[in-house]
Amino acid sequence: MSASSARSAAIAAANYYRVTPTLQYKATHTAATFGAAVFNERVMQARLPKSVFKSLKKTIETGSTLDPSMADVVALALKDWALEHGATHYAHVFQPLTGITAEKHDSFLEPDGRGGAFAEFTGKQLTQGEPDASSFPSGGIRSTFEARGYTAWDVTSPCYLQQTANGVTLCIPTAFVSWTGDVLDVKTPVLRSMKALDVQARRILKLFGHSNIATVTATAGPEQEYFLIDRSFYLARPDLISAGRTLFGARPPKGQEFEDQYFGVIPERVQAFMHESEAELYRLGVPVKTRHNEVAPSQYEIAPIYENANVAADHQQLTMNTMKTVARKYGLECLLHEKPFAGVNGSGKHLNWSLGNGTQGNLLEPGSTPHENLQFLVFCAGVVRAVHRHGGLLRAMVASASNDHRLGANEAPPAIISIFLGDQLSDVFVQLKKGSPKSSKKSGTMNLGVDTLPVLPKDAGDRNRTSPFAFTGNKFEYRAVASGQSISSPLAALNTIMAESLDYIASKLEKAPAGKLDQAITALLTEIAKEHSAVIFNGNNYSEEWHKEAAKRGLPNLKTSIDALPVLASKETVAAYEKYGVLTRRELEARRDICYEQYCKAVNVEANLVTEIARTKILPAVTRYQTELAHNFAALKAAGVKSDAALLNQVSEGIDGLKKSLGKLDKERSLHVHGLVEEAKHYCDAILPTMLEVRKFADALEAIVADDLWPLPTYEEMLFISK
Ligand code: ADP
Ligand code: MG
Repeated sequence: MSASSARSAAIAAANYYRVTPTLQYKATHTAATFGAAVFNERVMQARLPKSVFKSLKKTIETGSTLDPSMADVVALALKDWALEHGATHYAHVFQPLTGITAEKHDSFLEPDGRGGAFAEFTGKQLTQGEPDASSFPSGGIRSTFEARGYTAWDVTSPCYLQQTANGVTLCIPTAFVSWTGDVLDVKTPVLRSMKALDVQARRILKLFGHSNIATVTATAGPEQEYFLIDRSFYLARPDLISAGRTLFGARPPKGQEFEDQYFGVIPERVQAFMHESEAELYRLGVPVKTRHNEVAPSQYEIAPIYENANVAADHQQLTMNTMKTVARKYGLECLLHEKPFAGVNGSGKHLNWSLGNGTQGNLLEPGSTPHENLQFLVFCAGVVRAVHRHGGLLRAMVASASNDHRLGANEAPPAIISIFLGDQLSDVFVQLKKGSPKSSKKSGTMNLGVDTLPVLPKDAGDRNRTSPFAFTGNKFEYRAVASGQSISSPLAALNTIMAESLDYIASKLEKAPAGKLDQAITALLTEIAKEHSAVIFNGNNYSEEWHKEAAKRGLPNLKTSIDALPVLASKETVAAYEKYGVLTRRELEARRDICYEQYCKAVNVEANLVTEIARTKILPAVTRYQTELAHNFAALKAAGVKSDAALLNQVSEGIDGLKKSLGKLDKERSLHVHGLVEEAKHYCDAILPTMLEVRKFADALEAIVADDLWPLPTYEEMLFISK
């Protein structure tokens, strides 16, 4: 099949796709199956002896140490429950530093020595696994010959059943460490940072006179953006298959200029896909709530109700995996890359974050008169101070080759980390600089001028979509997070820097003389407002002026990953992470180096693809067209018909440019650059721009070459024929 007929076949496949209903939604309401595949509190209570249940619940709720003698009892109950649901295997699921989920499956079966077998699952098998660690990135922490790694059961995230057409596997969320005890995953730092946050937040709550204080947890609600395109197009694009983004493609005649996508009617096939993914996620106990069309054509969003941050992070991984799997059943491919298509909006993950507990509630809830709510102001000031001191870290935590295409591209926040507080709170912070605040701007109501419409309560602050870190009512929204990335590391960073801020605040306030706490709080808030308000910015983060203003304010502008990554192991980062026992210097340096390596690998794969696609697909197609034009020109000339070589020349020049830029790319790639950082810089400063040069010539040719010869599905086809 020629490439172009592959394209028409893909168009036909997309056109003739018909959804086969899979859900028995009339017989069983999907919501009724919520948590059906989860070994949750209800199941535990029903299946475990009372004392074991109570002890386990305490560990889950307070983070206390698990009594090892209980493991056998829990394992037995888990096994029975899993077998009743058809499970044959169990898997320790972990998140190594590859950024994706890994799992090692084992069968429950044990030979009985008499030719038969029985199902077994011990406490030891539940609590500890031993996957070979040598094939996962360690950033030089571990040599290949030191292969041993351990997974350890994370009691605080529930076990669940993963179901396929042919069987069921019991999944056990785990942490992953090396034989030497070095942390090799992204979950462990989340758990440790949550503990640190709890300890420090309690000190503040105690100061405010609370005596009954439940464990303070970080909460997270990640909004996930993604693209869905017809899988037939995906399969005809090697760049999408191997790099997740298109490396070629001329702008389509229509883009997103009509602004008719956002919240538009969701296409039927996509809705059917959404129903099935949500049904599956409900079964897994993931509380997905919101879905809508996003700004770009074929772009959508899914958001859950927030949860304990560690569980939310596991659920987020499940959400991404489930969407990828279910999409294929609908003839679609779910693209989680941050910038699959140039020229239309990319995808991000807005990470909503707060902290709170069952006794004092959400600690970032301002109430209607925040200026009087000293406790809220202390927590809010804690965030402002943390983000001002560690803005670079929040940038570095979302750094990757793919997110670089999105950040600062007039659709996503710039690389400068600032905080949007909104009018009301910013005003309180301005007042704080001068001392005790006296008032809060009122929110009021809005009359729509139509009697039948309700009078709407108005929020105290507007939204600001351009801010990388925005206060949205009673939580902060970290918007620079990448769509394809695990939220764990960004979460651990937020928790850690917040713990550091709260520690600073508590240490000062605990020294206040008796009866003078309120004055001490106001004085400290004034100090923080004076020192750290530079990070507050409510204006347009996309504007040129802000870049200048931010520089004046001394805020870092770490444009590329290469600029940002050093912060992962900077003096300030190491100090905070080591002080709260989240990660050591060695572990942080390892993580930084893995990011550099991943950056290089990602761009290298893309460069391979550019070379391959340009040489084996585009050049053959365009030279065929060139020959056709040349024949035509010669034939016309021979026939004595007036002929014009303009198009032939244009195509020939394009081909020439394409070949030359490919040669240049080869040359850049053959240079030997020594050292990881230098190599990453070379990829960033030399190879990426040269890839773009190749693309420029290819895209220009796409616009003039005969369509039946063009070998790749076009932007128009991929973005608009996927319905
Ligand atoms: P918005 O429209 O302002 O983005 P939503 O109410 O739709 O706000 O919430 C977006 C996400 O924020 C949801 O996933 C929601 O569960 C989450 N969220 C709400 N409150 C909190 C909180 N206290 N902590 C963490 N996430 C929260
Ligand atoms: Mg939001």
